[in-house]
Amino acid sequence: MSETIERLKCLIIGSGPAGYTAAIYAARANMKPVLYQGVQPGGQLTTTNEVENFPGYPDGITGPEMMIDLQKQAERFETDVRDGWVTKVDFSGSVHKVWVNDTKEIHCDTVIISTGASAKYLGLDSEQKYLKLGGGVSACAVCDGFFYRNQEVVIVGAGDSACEEAHYLSKLCKKVTMLVRRDEFRASKIMAARVQNTENIDILFNTETDEVLGDGQVVTSVRVFNNKTQEKYEIPATGFFVAIGHKPNTDIFKDILNLDETGYIINVPGTSKTNIEGVFVSGDAADHVYRQAVTAAGTGCMAALDAERYLAAKDSSFEVSTSTYN
Ligand code: NDP
Repeated sequence: MSETIERLKCLIIGSGPAGYTAAIYAARANMKPVLYQGVQPGGQLTTTNEVENFPGYPDGITGPEMMIDLQKQAERFETDVRDGWVTKVDFSGSVHKVWVNDTKEIHCDTVIISTGASAKYLGLDSEQKYLKLGGGVSACAVCDGFFYRNQEVVIVGAGDSACEEAHYLSKLCKKVTMLVRRDEFRASKIMAARVQNTENIDILFNTETDEVLGDGQVVTSVRVFNNKTQEKYEIPATGFFVAIGHKPNTDIFKDILNLDETGYIINVPGTSKTNIEGVFVSGDAADHVYRQAVTAAGTGCMAALDAERYLAAKDSSFEVSTSTYN
Protein backbone atom coordinates (compact mmCIF):
# COMPACT_ATOMS: atom_id res chain seq x y z
CA MET A 1 0.00 0.00 0.00
CA SER A 2 1.39 3.42 -0.94
CA GLU A 3 2.09 6.02 1.77
CA THR A 4 1.43 9.76 1.38
CA ILE A 5 3.42 11.23 -1.52
CA GLU A 6 6.27 13.46 -0.37
CA ARG A 7 7.40 16.45 -2.45
CA LEU A 8 11.09 17.42 -2.52
CA LYS A 9 13.30 19.98 -4.23
CA CYS A 10 16.28 17.65 -4.27
CA LEU A 11 16.65 13.93 -3.75
CA ILE A 12 20.09 12.32 -3.58
CA ILE A 13 20.37 8.58 -4.16
CA GLY A 14 23.47 7.00 -2.62
CA SER A 15 25.79 7.65 0.28
CA GLY A 16 29.38 7.48 -0.94
CA PRO A 17 31.67 10.52 -1.26
CA ALA A 18 29.68 11.67 -4.31
CA GLY A 19 26.29 11.59 -2.54
CA TYR A 20 27.48 13.24 0.67
CA THR A 21 29.38 15.97 -1.18
CA ALA A 22 26.29 16.68 -3.30
CA ALA A 23 24.31 16.84 -0.05
CA ILE A 24 26.73 19.32 1.57
CA TYR A 25 26.48 21.66 -1.42
CA ALA A 26 22.74 21.21 -1.95
CA ALA A 27 21.97 21.79 1.73
CA ARG A 28 24.10 24.94 1.86
CA ALA A 29 22.24 26.16 -1.23
CA ASN A 30 18.91 25.82 0.56
CA MET A 31 17.66 22.90 -1.52
CA LYS A 32 16.70 20.91 1.60
CA PRO A 33 18.10 17.65 0.24
CA VAL A 34 16.97 14.23 1.34
CA LEU A 35 19.60 11.51 0.88
CA TYR A 36 18.75 7.81 0.76
CA GLN A 37 21.71 5.69 1.81
CA GLY A 38 20.98 2.48 -0.09
CA VAL A 39 21.99 -1.02 0.93
CA GLN A 40 25.63 -0.18 1.65
CA PRO A 41 25.56 3.05 3.68
CA GLY A 42 28.82 4.88 3.05
CA GLY A 43 29.39 3.06 -0.24
CA GLN A 44 32.49 1.20 -1.37
CA LEU A 45 34.81 3.17 0.91
CA THR A 46 33.33 1.45 3.94
CA THR A 47 35.11 -1.70 2.76
CA THR A 48 38.42 0.13 2.45
CA ASN A 49 40.96 0.25 5.21
CA GLU A 50 43.34 3.19 4.95
CA VAL A 51 42.63 6.06 2.55
CA GLU A 52 45.91 7.87 2.01
CA ASN A 53 45.24 9.77 -1.18
CA PHE A 54 42.31 11.99 -0.19
CA PRO A 55 43.67 15.54 0.09
CA GLY A 56 43.55 17.04 3.55
CA TYR A 57 44.42 13.92 5.56
CA PRO A 58 48.22 13.98 5.91
CA ASP A 59 48.17 10.85 8.10
CA GLY A 60 45.47 9.03 6.12
CA ILE A 61 42.05 8.03 7.40
CA THR A 62 40.08 4.78 7.32
CA GLY A 63 37.27 4.55 4.76
CA PRO A 64 34.52 4.05 7.39
CA GLU A 65 35.78 7.03 9.46
CA MET A 66 35.82 9.24 6.39
CA MET A 67 32.25 8.29 5.53
CA ILE A 68 31.05 8.99 9.08
CA ASP A 69 32.69 12.42 8.88
CA LEU A 70 31.10 13.12 5.49
CA GLN A 71 27.68 12.13 6.81
CA LYS A 72 28.13 14.38 9.86
CA GLN A 73 29.16 17.27 7.60
CA ALA A 74 26.08 16.77 5.40
CA GLU A 75 23.83 16.59 8.49
CA ARG A 76 25.40 19.71 9.97
CA PHE A 77 23.73 21.64 7.13
CA GLU A 78 20.48 19.73 7.73
CA THR A 79 20.57 17.14 5.00
CA ASP A 80 17.90 14.59 5.85
CA VAL A 81 19.87 11.31 5.68
CA ARG A 82 17.57 8.28 5.58
CA ASP A 83 17.80 4.49 5.45
CA GLY A 84 16.17 3.14 2.35
CA TRP A 85 16.69 1.68 -1.08
CA VAL A 86 15.32 3.35 -4.19
CA THR A 87 13.61 0.57 -6.13
CA LYS A 88 11.92 2.36 -9.02
CA VAL A 89 11.99 5.70 -10.84
CA ASP A 90 9.78 7.38 -13.41
CA PHE A 91 11.43 10.36 -15.10
CA SER A 92 8.85 10.70 -17.88
CA GLY A 93 7.00 13.75 -16.54
CA SER A 94 7.96 17.23 -15.44
CA VAL A 95 8.15 16.02 -11.84
CA HIS A 96 10.49 13.10 -11.23
CA LYS A 97 8.91 10.20 -9.38
CA VAL A 98 10.91 7.89 -7.17
CA TRP A 99 9.83 4.92 -5.04
CA VAL A 100 11.70 3.88 -1.91
CA ASN A 101 11.52 0.25 -0.73
CA ASP A 102 8.75 -0.27 -3.34
CA THR A 103 6.24 1.63 -1.21
CA LYS A 104 7.06 5.23 -0.41
CA GLU A 105 6.51 7.55 -3.39
CA ILE A 106 8.44 10.82 -3.66
CA HIS A 107 8.05 13.57 -6.26
CA CYS A 108 11.22 15.57 -6.86
CA ASP A 109 12.22 18.65 -8.81
CA THR A 110 15.79 17.39 -9.03
CA VAL A 111 17.40 13.99 -8.54
CA ILE A 112 21.12 13.45 -8.03
CA ILE A 113 22.21 9.88 -8.72
CA SER A 114 25.25 8.77 -6.71
CA THR A 115 24.64 5.03 -6.65
CA GLY A 116 28.25 4.03 -7.29
CA ALA A 117 29.49 0.71 -8.56
CA SER A 118 30.00 -2.77 -7.09
CA ALA A 119 32.84 -5.23 -7.48
CA LYS A 120 32.18 -8.20 -9.77
CA TYR A 121 32.67 -11.77 -8.57
CA LEU A 122 33.09 -15.02 -10.50
CA GLY A 123 29.81 -16.38 -9.12
CA LEU A 124 31.11 -19.78 -8.00
CA ASP A 125 29.18 -21.18 -5.02
CA SER A 126 32.42 -21.82 -3.15
CA GLU A 127 33.59 -18.23 -3.76
CA GLN A 128 30.31 -16.82 -2.46
CA LYS A 129 30.32 -19.17 0.53
CA TYR A 130 33.74 -18.00 1.79
CA LEU A 131 32.93 -14.40 0.88
CA LYS A 132 29.84 -14.47 3.11
CA LEU A 133 31.73 -16.23 5.90
CA GLY A 134 34.47 -13.57 5.77
CA GLY A 135 36.78 -16.55 5.41
CA GLY A 136 39.29 -15.48 2.80
CA VAL A 137 37.52 -14.14 -0.32
CA SER A 138 37.82 -10.43 -1.10
CA ALA A 139 37.41 -8.00 -3.98
CA CYS A 140 39.61 -5.37 -2.40
CA ALA A 141 43.29 -6.04 -1.83
CA VAL A 142 43.82 -2.63 -0.33
CA CYS A 143 41.08 -3.29 2.23
CA ASP A 144 41.96 -6.84 3.16
CA GLY A 145 45.54 -7.53 2.05
CA PHE A 146 46.75 -6.71 5.54
CA PHE A 147 45.13 -9.90 6.89
CA TYR A 148 47.31 -12.05 4.62
CA ARG A 149 50.75 -10.79 5.60
CA ASN A 150 53.43 -13.42 4.95
CA GLN A 151 50.82 -15.79 3.52
CA GLU A 152 50.15 -17.14 0.02
CA VAL A 153 47.25 -15.71 -1.96
CA VAL A 154 45.63 -16.08 -5.38
CA ILE A 155 44.24 -13.18 -7.42
CA VAL A 156 42.01 -13.44 -10.50
CA GLY A 157 42.00 -10.85 -13.28
CA ALA A 158 44.29 -9.34 -15.90
CA GLY A 159 43.24 -5.70 -16.06
CA ASP A 160 44.85 -2.65 -14.51
CA SER A 161 43.01 -3.25 -11.23
CA ALA A 162 44.26 -6.83 -10.97
CA CYS A 163 47.84 -5.72 -11.68
CA GLU A 164 47.64 -2.89 -9.20
CA GLU A 165 46.17 -5.15 -6.52
CA ALA A 166 48.59 -8.02 -7.22
CA HIS A 167 51.50 -5.61 -6.85
CA TYR A 168 50.04 -4.24 -3.64
CA LEU A 169 49.63 -7.80 -2.27
CA SER A 170 53.19 -8.74 -3.30
CA LYS A 171 54.50 -6.24 -0.78
CA LEU A 172 52.58 -7.93 2.06
CA CYS A 173 52.34 -11.57 1.10
CA LYS A 174 54.88 -14.33 0.72
CA LYS A 175 53.58 -15.32 -2.71
CA VAL A 176 50.88 -14.04 -5.07
CA THR A 177 49.56 -16.27 -7.85
CA MET A 178 47.77 -14.39 -10.58
CA LEU A 179 45.20 -16.23 -12.72
CA VAL A 180 44.86 -14.81 -16.25
CA ARG A 181 42.17 -16.48 -18.33
CA ARG A 182 43.64 -15.59 -21.73
CA ASP A 183 47.24 -15.78 -22.93
CA GLU A 184 47.72 -12.04 -22.45
CA PHE A 185 46.95 -9.18 -20.09
CA ARG A 186 44.21 -6.63 -20.65
CA ALA A 187 46.14 -4.18 -18.49
CA SER A 188 48.31 -1.40 -19.87
CA LYS A 189 51.88 -2.46 -20.75
CA ILE A 190 53.40 -0.61 -17.83
CA MET A 191 51.08 -2.22 -15.27
CA ALA A 192 51.59 -5.69 -16.76
CA ALA A 193 55.37 -5.20 -16.78
CA ARG A 194 55.28 -4.26 -13.14
CA VAL A 195 53.72 -7.58 -12.07
CA GLN A 196 55.86 -9.55 -14.51
CA ASN A 197 58.97 -8.04 -12.95
CA THR A 198 57.95 -8.74 -9.37
CA GLU A 199 59.72 -11.78 -8.00
CA ASN A 200 56.99 -13.15 -5.72
CA ILE A 201 54.17 -12.83 -8.30
CA ASP A 202 53.59 -16.02 -10.25
CA ILE A 203 51.47 -15.44 -13.38
CA LEU A 204 49.48 -18.36 -14.80
CA PHE A 205 48.08 -17.67 -18.28
CA ASN A 206 45.11 -19.57 -19.74
CA THR A 207 44.17 -20.45 -16.21
CA GLU A 208 40.75 -20.21 -14.57
CA THR A 209 39.27 -20.95 -11.17
CA ASP A 210 37.50 -24.26 -10.76
CA GLU A 211 36.67 -24.03 -7.03
CA VAL A 212 37.73 -22.16 -3.96
CA LEU A 213 38.54 -24.86 -1.40
CA GLY A 214 38.54 -24.59 2.37
CA ASP A 215 37.86 -26.27 5.69
CA GLY A 216 34.30 -24.96 5.92
CA GLN A 217 35.41 -21.77 7.69
CA VAL A 218 38.43 -20.40 5.84
CA VAL A 219 40.04 -20.78 2.43
CA THR A 220 42.94 -23.23 2.28
CA SER A 221 43.55 -23.57 -1.48
CA VAL A 222 42.21 -22.82 -4.95
CA ARG A 223 41.62 -25.50 -7.58
CA VAL A 224 42.41 -24.10 -11.01
CA PHE A 225 42.33 -25.46 -14.55
CA ASN A 226 44.30 -24.72 -17.65
CA ASN A 227 41.70 -23.94 -20.31
CA LYS A 228 44.00 -25.18 -23.09
CA THR A 229 45.01 -28.54 -21.59
CA GLN A 230 42.07 -28.94 -19.14
CA GLU A 231 44.62 -29.94 -16.50
CA LYS A 232 43.33 -29.30 -12.96
CA TYR A 233 45.47 -28.72 -9.90
CA GLU A 234 45.41 -27.03 -6.50
CA ILE A 235 47.32 -23.95 -5.37
CA PRO A 236 47.69 -23.54 -1.59
CA ALA A 237 46.30 -20.12 -0.56
CA THR A 238 44.63 -18.55 2.44
CA GLY A 239 43.30 -15.58 0.47
CA PHE A 240 41.38 -15.47 -2.82
CA PHE A 241 41.18 -12.01 -4.37
CA VAL A 242 38.85 -11.19 -7.25
CA ALA A 243 39.79 -8.20 -9.45
CA ILE A 244 37.69 -8.65 -12.58
CA GLY A 245 36.07 -5.24 -12.78
CA HIS A 246 33.11 -3.37 -11.38
CA LYS A 247 29.44 -3.06 -12.27
CA PRO A 248 27.76 0.33 -11.93
CA ASN A 249 24.64 0.26 -9.73
CA THR A 250 22.34 1.61 -12.40
CA ASP A 251 19.87 -1.22 -13.13
CA ILE A 252 16.84 0.87 -12.11
CA PHE A 253 17.76 3.52 -14.71
CA LYS A 254 17.96 1.09 -17.64
CA ASP A 255 15.69 2.20 -20.55
CA ILE A 256 15.18 5.54 -18.74
CA LEU A 257 18.62 7.16 -18.84
CA ASN A 258 21.28 6.81 -21.51
CA LEU A 259 23.73 4.14 -20.32
CA ASP A 260 26.86 2.81 -22.04
CA GLU A 261 27.29 -0.88 -22.85
CA THR A 262 28.58 -1.64 -19.32
CA GLY A 263 25.75 0.29 -17.66
CA TYR A 264 27.59 3.49 -16.74
CA ILE A 265 25.31 6.54 -16.99
CA ILE A 266 26.32 8.81 -19.87
CA ASN A 267 26.60 12.42 -18.77
CA VAL A 268 26.84 15.52 -20.93
CA PRO A 269 30.65 16.00 -21.11
CA GLY A 270 31.99 18.45 -18.57
CA THR A 271 28.73 18.47 -16.58
CA SER A 272 26.71 16.17 -14.35
CA LYS A 273 23.66 16.39 -16.63
CA THR A 274 21.99 13.23 -17.91
CA ASN A 275 19.64 13.00 -20.90
CA ILE A 276 16.71 13.90 -18.60
CA GLU A 277 16.37 17.49 -17.42
CA GLY A 278 16.61 17.80 -13.66
CA VAL A 279 18.35 14.42 -13.26
CA PHE A 280 22.07 14.59 -12.53
CA VAL A 281 24.76 11.97 -11.97
CA SER A 282 27.92 11.93 -9.86
CA GLY A 283 30.57 9.46 -8.80
CA ASP A 284 31.28 5.95 -10.02
CA ALA A 285 27.80 5.45 -11.52
CA ALA A 286 29.14 7.49 -14.45
CA ASP A 287 32.90 7.08 -14.07
CA HIS A 288 34.70 3.98 -15.29
CA VAL A 289 37.99 5.81 -15.70
CA TYR A 290 39.04 7.53 -12.48
CA ARG A 291 36.88 5.83 -9.79
CA GLN A 292 38.50 7.71 -6.92
CA ALA A 293 36.92 9.08 -3.76
CA VAL A 294 38.17 12.55 -4.58
CA THR A 295 36.83 12.52 -8.15
CA ALA A 296 33.50 11.19 -6.85
CA ALA A 297 33.38 14.06 -4.35
CA GLY A 298 34.22 16.54 -7.12
CA THR A 299 31.42 15.33 -9.35
CA GLY A 300 29.04 15.35 -6.34
CA CYS A 301 29.79 19.06 -6.02
CA MET A 302 29.17 19.54 -9.76
CA ALA A 303 25.82 17.74 -9.54
CA ALA A 304 24.58 19.95 -6.69
CA LEU A 305 25.65 23.12 -8.53
CA ASP A 306 24.01 21.93 -11.76
CA ALA A 307 20.82 21.04 -9.84
CA GLU A 308 20.79 24.41 -8.14
CA ARG A 309 21.16 26.27 -11.43
CA TYR A 310 18.44 24.11 -12.98
CA LEU A 311 16.06 24.97 -10.12
CA ALA A 312 16.89 28.66 -10.36
CA ALA A 313 16.19 28.69 -14.10
CA LYS A 314 12.91 26.82 -13.64
CA ASP A 315 11.57 28.70 -10.66
CA SER A 316 12.38 32.38 -10.28
CA SER A 317 11.39 32.23 -6.59
CA PHE A 318 14.32 29.86 -5.99
CA GLU A 319 17.45 31.98 -5.69
CA VAL A 320 20.89 30.63 -6.42
CA SER A 321 22.66 30.73 -3.09
CA THR A 322 25.79 32.81 -3.12
CA SER A 323 27.15 30.75 -0.21
CA THR A 324 27.56 27.81 -2.56
CA TYR A 325 30.24 29.58 -4.47
CA ASN A 326 32.29 30.68 -1.47
P1 NDP B 1 38.83 -4.44 -16.75
O1 NDP B 1 37.46 -4.64 -17.28
O2 NDP B 1 39.80 -3.57 -17.48
O3 NDP B 1 39.53 -5.87 -16.61
C1 NDP B 1 38.86 -6.96 -16.06
C2 NDP B 1 39.78 -8.16 -16.13
O4 NDP B 1 39.14 -9.24 -15.48
C3 NDP B 1 40.07 -8.58 -17.56
O5 NDP B 1 41.41 -8.96 -17.68
C4 NDP B 1 39.16 -9.79 -17.75
O6 NDP B 1 39.69 -10.77 -18.58
C5 NDP B 1 39.12 -10.36 -16.34
N1 NDP B 1 37.91 -11.12 -16.12
C6 NDP B 1 36.62 -10.71 -16.28
N2 NDP B 1 35.76 -11.70 -15.96
C7 NDP B 1 36.54 -12.76 -15.62
C8 NDP B 1 36.24 -14.07 -15.21
N3 NDP B 1 34.98 -14.50 -15.07
N4 NDP B 1 37.29 -14.91 -14.95
C9 NDP B 1 38.55 -14.48 -15.07
N5 NDP B 1 38.90 -13.24 -15.45
C10 NDP B 1 37.90 -12.39 -15.72
O7 NDP B 1 38.61 -3.95 -15.22
P2 NDP B 1 39.60 -3.17 -14.25
O8 NDP B 1 38.86 -3.06 -12.98
O9 NDP B 1 40.92 -3.80 -14.22
O10 NDP B 1 39.75 -1.74 -14.90
C11 NDP B 1 38.59 -0.94 -15.20
C12 NDP B 1 39.06 0.41 -15.77
O11 NDP B 1 39.76 1.15 -14.76
C13 NDP B 1 40.02 0.24 -16.92
O12 NDP B 1 39.76 1.26 -17.87
C14 NDP B 1 41.37 0.44 -16.29
O13 NDP B 1 42.33 0.90 -17.22
C15 NDP B 1 41.07 1.49 -15.23
N6 NDP B 1 42.03 1.38 -14.11
C16 NDP B 1 43.18 2.11 -14.17
C17 NDP B 1 44.13 2.03 -13.17
C18 NDP B 1 45.37 2.83 -13.28
O14 NDP B 1 45.64 3.36 -14.33
N7 NDP B 1 46.13 2.98 -12.22
C19 NDP B 1 43.95 1.17 -12.00
C20 NDP B 1 42.73 0.40 -12.04
C21 NDP B 1 41.83 0.51 -13.07
P3 NDP B 1 39.82 -10.56 -20.17
O15 NDP B 1 40.98 -9.64 -20.36
O16 NDP B 1 40.06 -11.95 -20.66
O17 NDP B 1 38.51 -9.99 -20.63
